[in-house]
Amino acid sequence: MSAQLRNELLFGTRALLRDNPLSQWRLRALQRNESLDRAQLEQLQAALLHRTMQTAIARLPMYKHLPRDFPVAAAPEVLRTMFPIIAKDMLFVQRGALYPNRGQRQPWQAPGKSSGTTGAPVTLFRSLASLLMEQAFVKRHWAWAGYHDGMVRATLRGELVAGFGQAGPPFWFWNRYNCQLLVSSRHLVDAHADAIIDRLEQLAPAMLQAYPSTAFTLAGLLQRRQRRLGIPFVFTSSEPLYPHQRALVEQWFGGKVMDMYGMAERVAFAGECEHGQLHINPDYSYVEIVDEDGCPTDDYGSVVGTTFHNHAMPLVRYRLSDHTRWRRGLCACGRAWPMIEVVSGKFEDCITGGNGEPVSSSVLTFAFKNMNGICKSQVAQVGPARWEVRVVPLQGFTATDQQKLVDNIHQLVDPHVAVTVVLRDDIPSTAAGKFRWVVNEFDPPRNAA
Ligand SMILES: [Zn+2]
Repeated sequence: MSAQLRNELLFGTRALLRDNPLSQWRLRALQRNESLDRAQLEQLQAALLHRTMQTAIARLPMYKHLPRDFPVAAAPEVLRTMFPIIAKDMLFVQRGALYPNRGQRQPWQAPGKSSGTTGAPVTLFRSLASLLMEQAFVKRHWAWAGYHDGMVRATLRGELVAGFGQAGPPFWFWNRYNCQLLVSSRHLVDAHADAIIDRLEQLAPAMLQAYPSTAFTLAGLLQRRQRRLGIPFVFTSSEPLYPHQRALVEQWFGGKVMDMYGMAERVAFAGECEHGQLHINPDYSYVEIVDEDGCPTDDYGSVVGTTFHNHAMPLVRYRLSDHTRWRRGLCACGRAWPMIEVVSGKFEDCITGGNGEPVSSSVLTFAFKNMNGICKSQVAQVGPARWEVRVVPLQGFTATDQQKLVDNIHQLVDPHVAVTVVLRDDIPSTAAGKFRWVVNEFDPPRNAA
C-alpha cells in the first residue's frame, strides 16, 4: 500500500472516530466545568475519584484487600491514607498486581506507550472511552485560543509523512479530514526550509501544534532567512518548554505560545491559559504534589496523578518524574482551577553544578541568550561538576564564540563547573522524535520514575 493511501485511511478512520457529533457533545460537557467554583470542583473530583478507586479495587489485585464502602466525599482522604504511591518500575516488577486481567490486554483496549526517555518504555492499556476523552480535553484547551474543528492547523510533531531520503517536496501530508497539514520535522533543515516555510505561508494556519524543539528549530530557520510567519497560536507539548524557545518562537511566528503539560500515562493534564498561567485540569485526574517522603508539599515536589477516565487500567497515585510547585492565588482568566509553576524537565535530566546542587534549566538558558551561530545545542552532565555543551554550529561560529559560551556559563550560571564545548554535525532526538536539551549522563538519580 502506498504511503499516501495508508495516511488517507489512517486519518479518515481517526476523524470518523474522534470528530463527530458525540465528540462535540463531550467537549461542551467539559467546557461547562470551566465555570465551576472551587466547592463544585471539589465535589466533581470526589465523584470521579470515587469511581476510579472503585474500579481499581474491583479490577486490580494490588487493591483487592481494600474496603469499598467509603462515601464519595471521603474519597480523597481514603486515597491518601490507603493507596500507596506507585512508580514506573513497579509496573514491571508487580505487573500481575497493577495490570488488569493478569497483564493480558483485551482486544478492545488500545496500547499506550510511554516514550521511555530513560529506561524501558512502559505499555499501558487504554479504554476507547479514555482515548475519546483525551481528544476532548485537548480540544477544550485549543478552544482557549479560539480554535475549533473546521479551522486549519499545521502539525510539526515527529510524524513520518515524508521518506527519510526524500530530496524534494512535499515534506508534508494534507489531512483533509481535519484540515491539518502534517509537516515532517525530520526535514526541518536548511536545504528544505524554504519549501516548508512557503507551504506554511500559503496555508496560513490558525494554529500550529509542535514540540517545543521542533517549533524552535523552525523559528531558527525563519530567523536566519529573516522571514516571519503569521501563525496566531503555537500549541507546544510533550517536552519541557524553555524560555529561550518560547521567546524565539513568538518572535518569528508572530503569535502566542500556549504550552500544554501531559504524559503517556495520562495522570495529569495542564494547559496554559490566555493569561499565561498553567492550569491543572481538575476534571481530568486527581493531582498531588509530594515531597521525597510522599507527603503533600507546597514546595517543589513530584507530580503524582490518579486517572479519572481510563478505567481499563486505572493508574492510582502514579508518581511522575516531573517536578513542579503549586502556584497560589486566582487567575485573571476566572477559572477556579489550580495553577502550577512551569514543569521542569524530567528529574533524571536534572544536572548539578560545582557544589553538587541542581541547576535550573531556565537559568541555563541565560548562557545562550546572546549567542549567535548556534543551530542546535545540548547540555550534558558527564562527571561531577563537569558539563559537556554540544553545539551544532552555523557558519561563522568561531573559537571566540565557543569561549564566550564557556564564559557565559561561568558568569551567569555556575562559576565552579568545568565546561567543554564539543562541535557536532547533529544532536539526535530520541526514537519518539523528542529532543532533550538537558541530559544527565553521569548520575541519573536512582529514584527517578
Ligand atoms: Zn488562567
